[in-house]
Amino acid sequence: MTAIRCAPLALFLLSYANLTPAQSILGFTPTSSTRETEVESKFKSIPTPDEERRQHRIFTQEPHIAGSKRNNELADYIAAEWRKQGLEDVIIRRYDVYGTNPKSASLEMIAPTHYQAILRETPIPGDDDSKNPAITGAWLGMSISGEVTAPVVYAHSGNPEDYDLLRKQGISVKGKIVLVRYSNPYSYRGFKALTAQREGAAAILIYSDPAEDGYKKGKVDPDGPWGPEYHIQRGAITYDFMVPGDPQTPGWASVPGAKRIPIEDAVSAPKIMALPLSWHDAKPLLENMDGPVAPAEWQGGLPIQYHLGGERVKAHLKIEMDNGTQPYYVVEGRIRGADLPDEWVVLGNHRDAWAFGGVDPSSGTASMIELTRALGQLAKQGMRPRRTIVVCSWDGEEVGLTGSTEWGEQFADDLRAKAVAYINVDEATSGPNFHGQAVASLAPMLEETTRSLQDPSGKNLYDAWKATVEREKASAQSGPFNSGVLTSTLADTRIGSGSDHTVFLNFIGMPVIGLGFEGDYGVYHSAYDDFFWMNHFGDPGYRYHTLTSQLWGVTALRLANADLLPFDFASYASNIRQFVAELVNGKGMSKLDLTGARKEIDNFEAAGKRLDESMAQSLASGKINPAVEQALNQGMMQVERNWLNPDGIPGRPWFKHILYGARFTYAHLELPGLTEAVENQDWPTARQQAEILQHALEKNTKLLNELNERIQH
Ligand SMILES: [Zn+2]
Repeated sequence: MTAIRCAPLALFLLSYANLTPAQSILGFTPTSSTRETEVESKFKSIPTPDEERRQHRIFTQEPHIAGSKRNNELADYIAAEWRKQGLEDVIIRRYDVYGTNPKSASLEMIAPTHYQAILRETPIPGDDDSKNPAITGAWLGMSISGEVTAPVVYAHSGNPEDYDLLRKQGISVKGKIVLVRYSNPYSYRGFKALTAQREGAAAILIYSDPAEDGYKKGKVDPDGPWGPEYHIQRGAITYDFMVPGDPQTPGWASVPGAKRIPIEDAVSAPKIMALPLSWHDAKPLLENMDGPVAPAEWQGGLPIQYHLGGERVKAHLKIEMDNGTQPYYVVEGRIRGADLPDEWVVLGNHRDAWAFGGVDPSSGTASMIELTRALGQLAKQGMRPRRTIVVCSWDGEEVGLTGSTEWGEQFADDLRAKAVAYINVDEATSGPNFHGQAVASLAPMLEETTRSLQDPSGKNLYDAWKATVEREKASAQSGPFNSGVLTSTLADTRIGSGSDHTVFLNFIGMPVIGLGFEGDYGVYHSAYDDFFWMNHFGDPGYRYHTLTSQLWGVTALRLANADLLPFDFASYASNIRQFVAELVNGKGMSKLDLTGARKEIDNFEAAGKRLDESMAQSLASGKINPAVEQALNQGMMQVERNWLNPDGIPGRPWFKHILYGARFTYAHLELPGLTEAVENQDWPTARQQAEILQHALEKNTKLLNELNERIQH
């Protein structure tokens, strides 16, 4: 636990903690801590499992893909609910973006035998939603249209090293159809598509192997949470790791009349045909393949021997897409701050789903509607937050993080001036295991917040979280999310991409937090991710939905009500030191001198510690000069912005954060510009990136020192 900020506060807490535990809240004076505790307990009493379930049913009633009529109706529904709940300035913002819709797709094996792929999910007994005729067939967002007849090659996960292995075996994929599998650990399918495109393949088929999310993991739907024979993982293949959002407006908002670049010039628009398959449809291809036997790691969960293929199996693939400009809608509402209306805490969840979106995202959407109901009730009872809480329902997250990116680009200047932080909830719950992500400066406050919440297991959420982290460390099964960089930290402070926090962190320079509960979940992005699945496996009692609303709201309220924003920059410094330490393990590092950057990390840490101490003293005294308070909070909000390099990271100018980035797989990538330069053994760029890091550290140290001066005079 890293939340103890300094000796004076710790002593103070030791002597008074038992009497008035509220005094321990980071960023609050004793008096405002007491008030905050009252507000929070009122807030926590409002969300109920019944209401969570009722809202979840509304959102999971019908498929609601980005751009669809149903998804747009749900935008209207959210706006109406928010107005009823008492939110203010509710508005639906329209963005005209390059969207994607399936028209038709067919896949036929024409040699050595004939097989017509089904490309649909079959109904599941007991799950009436799975019979809904509005469920689409197999498709991948942003695939191009086309037709090809070609041999099929098995390329394992479709990563660059997989093609190296094929090459060594004398197998070329040029002009052929590659068959790859979704992989564990998760790798974004768009990276698989780009890799296949670069290798010259004519098309890519991505299937769900039972080893990854099916019967090799456990019982399948409807007997268990894993993916059944016919489940299809849809998804987009947009190259949004290059630049997210509308491919035709890279870096600016797709508001009416905005300049649009030709789609041929858009770096994030794929130029390959792509289709997802269930294992039912992949098996006939795999079991008929010739060529060398695939290596042991390439063998999957099907009861066959996997071969590399390349000659014998030929297939005919035809995909027709309707890709073109269409409107996406972001719903925005707020509770105006009572004291500081121009300081914003921003919350968001995406609305669009590949089908019903039981987990992804409707569990989060239901939690958001319960959270806003509780906020509205508090405001009506005179418990309005000090700062403004802005809430958004994003659209087209699944396509390319599109709605949040366009909104963020539209309001970038406002957000850089006013935003305190962004708190994202995408999938609220697929099970009981809490995962919390935060930029390092907010990790201590997030951990402290979880101590005030009750987990359904009976423990407090902090202890439940700790048990989860320890269990996951022990089994060394690192999924998409790793735990924090410091052994004492629970929060995952390594933040990649793959959800709506991206524009806020990487483009605008806002501190971000991400919340969610996870469990065994094999129906991701399939039609079986629905109400039935949630009520049988994910969260049958809706207790984790309720807890998500509570946690999300309490975290937001602490940021919105704090006297002094609960940032911990000493914690940030130790994380950065760790990032640099990991980088130093790279080869050829003797060519790069990081002495200057290291010294600046020490200085930043020392300044952070001094500020922590001054703030704790000032808060404990209960007396803070309002002008000092304002200067301090404004200054602290600037720290994250100062990690931005306006030029962006080399090759990806949209991604401006120098500490946080993402790999093409969406995986986290710390010190992205520096790390990629070191990996490429590009020492001039590495030196230049190290200098940028050093200067940003200097700038923030200077800023913290100035704030510390302010508070002491
Ligand atoms: Zn999602």
